[in-house]
Amino acid sequence: MTFEPSAEHAAVREGVARVCARFPGAYWRDLDARRAYPDAFVEALTEAGYLSAMIPEEYGGAGLDLAAAAAILEEIHKSGCNAAACHAQMYTMGTVLRHGDAEQKRTWLPGIAAGTLRLQAFGVTEPTSGTDTLALRTTATRDGASYVVNGQKIWTSRAEHSDLMLLLARTTPRENVETRTDGLSVFLIDLRALVGCGVTIKPIRTMMNHATTEVFFDRARIPASSLIGEEGKGFRYILSGMNAERILIAAECIGDAKWFLDKAAAYAKERVVFGRPIGANQGVQFPLARAFAHMLAAEAIVHRAAAMYDAGLDPGIEANSAKMLAADASWEAAEACVQTFGGFGFAEEYDVERKFRETRLYQVAPISTNLILCYLAERALGLPKSYA
Ligand SMILES: Cc1cc2nc3c(=O)[nH]c(=O)nc-3n(C[C@H](O)[C@H](O)[C@H](O)COP(=O)(O)OP(=O)(O)OC[C@H]3O[C@@H](n4cnc5c(N)ncnc54)[C@H](O)[C@@H]3O)c2cc1C
Repeated sequence: MTFEPSAEHAAVREGVARVCARFPGAYWRDLDARRAYPDAFVEALTEAGYLSAMIPEEYGGAGLDLAAAAAILEEIHKSGCNAAACHAQMYTMGTVLRHGDAEQKRTWLPGIAAGTLRLQAFGVTEPTSGTDTLALRTTATRDGASYVVNGQKIWTSRAEHSDLMLLLARTTPRENVETRTDGLSVFLIDLRALVGCGVTIKPIRTMMNHATTEVFFDRARIPASSLIGEEGKGFRYILSGMNAERILIAAECIGDAKWFLDKAAAYAKERVVFGRPIGANQGVQFPLARAFAHMLAAEAIVHRAAAMYDAGLDPGIEANSAKMLAADASWEAAEACVQTFGGFGFAEEYDVERKFRETRLYQVAPISTNLILCYLAERALGLPKSYA
């Protein structure tokens, strides 16, 4: 069974599928049991050039657009693999490309493109501020040719496996800024120089294998040249990267939905109960057919949002809608798949329960469904803003 909607990016998809075929369910099950990082998978993707897809060719990347990056991530998930180990490299890139200066790009991008440097960590969320990013408390205080960073991030995924980290910190106290969105700044920091020297990383064990962490900053000194763009404008830079992030995560959800539906349909044809395949029963077919239709609709919005992004438009409404609908579609497909498998849906060897746990995340991160609804109510429908 195939759910391929178009031949677009066919070569990219085929190439990614070939890499993913080397990392079957047994590979992921073993890592999941040990909560270990998929080093070999990330290396294979890096070697094949897929993680530098969005880096311009002049820095050694493939110079592809967001639609191609989305195709790569969708294909990874459709193959049963998990891009969570490395997807941040694609969406953090936009901030560096759009707002970094020439020197920063020359310093960092060729290494990232070549795979000798990893930019996988993105430190925004904090324990006390949660979704209210403007309330974050980590500070970066200018001191001569350095900034001194103090505070704590939480859910900083992949920090232990990344050389670099994009950090959002407050450079001007909240009470001293004219515009409420001012006063936060983005830094591209070199974790290698800081771990054990002002930075401590503590893993958080979660219901799925996600390599997420808490990161503590205690008088961590970073060069002033780590600042991306203008001091105090970081919140805007991060926001401008959010559309790309939403679209790429939505593509992963579409990939998950396709994996669940493929897996469930194959099983429903094979599994014989009461003398016939369970898939002959409408009670088994209908939830899968419904999930399929919802996946197709969500996929269309993901493609539309990516096309708008690549055309230089602002797809805020489409990117947020795509993320919510695709996350709903993957969750609906996951639920229908577990039900189709019956008891075997709970057995590790079928991978269904693992993917089920993995795809649940997308209702919460990188943005929760409620906050997307808040955004759409305000921006698309003109309703009063419901969050400060
Ligand atoms: C596995 C994992 C990996 C992550 N990786 C990263 C990462 O790499 N970098 C990073 O910076 N962050 C990361 N995050 C953080 C993630 O983006 C946040 O968890 C998410 O944005 C929600 O924030 P929160 O957990 O603080 O929830 P809260 O803000 O505490 O919200 C809790 C619940 O309340 C709801 N809620 C809050 N305010 C409102 C409101 N006004 N209206 C309606 N509902 C509301 C939310 O929708 C949510 O369901 C990760 C999280 C997880 C779990």
